[in-house]
Amino acid sequence: MYTCRNCKRTFRTELALSLHRDTCAEGQLFCQACGDRFAERRATRDGWHYACPNDDCEGEGLTEDILRVDDVRITTRTQ
Ligand SMILES: [Zn+2]
Ligand SMILES: [Zn+2]
Repeated sequence: MYTCRNCKRTFRTELALSLHRDTCAEGQLFCQACGDRFAERRATRDGWHYACPNDDCEGEGLTEDILRVDDVRITTRTQ
């Protein structure tokens, strides 16, 4: 079983999980440092300072290391 860390849904294959992660409503943020995706509430406590929730990742700062997935999609579409 593969579990989406953001919404806790489970999938039988790793491929199904990776496809889901692209559309997961709970994975709005993307860390450029480690490439992981996570829910906004996992990356910030006060809505001001953002840091990657992964213990082994130093990524922090919205629009710096942490990007909104919607913004990334818009950027790649216009390039
Ligand atoms: Zn999910
Ligand atoms: Zn990270």
